[in-house]
Amino acid sequence: MSVERILAGKGRDVISIDPQSTLAEAARMLNQHRIGAIVVIDAAEALVGILSERDVVRAVAEGGAEALRQPVSSRMTGQVVTCRSNAGIDELMTLMTERKFRHVPIVEGGRLRGIVSIGDIVKQRLAEIETEHRALRDYIATA
Ligand code: AMP
Repeated sequence: MSVERILAGKGRDVISIDPQSTLAEAARMLNQHRIGAIVVIDAAEALVGILSERDVVRAVAEGGAEALRQPVSSRMTGQVVTCRSNAGIDELMTLMTERKFRHVPIVEGGRLRGIVSIGDIVKQRLAEIETEHRALRDYIATA
């Protein structure tokens, strides 16, 4: 099963912010959209980073409320790990586990095509398990 299946279900909208915005603005957007990470896009629409709620928490833990005035660029991760939409879900699960992050932007032909979170993967796996159980129950009932 590929990432494409998840994107087809959840949509391809990606919430983004520019690197000069403040961490306070990023926190507002994370809260407003109920998401855990936001991709950082520059004026040329290039993907230049990713900022997760963990980055905001770390900034506040280190610098107090004042840290919320810092620009997103000072706390984002600049080396973003991305995937193509034909990547397998197992591949993405392995990537997230090994690299210890919960969000992967999907990039195709240099363009951002969506974002997949660990929550999206869990939801998809639960749906698959439910389908398998139903098939097994039907098989047993009709055997
Ligand atoms: P997360 O677990 O996704 O909340 O993120 C944990 C840390 O990894 C934060 O410092 C993020 O900036 C960073 N991070 C999240 N997603 C990615 C990604 N796809 N590529 C690189 N770093 C990431």
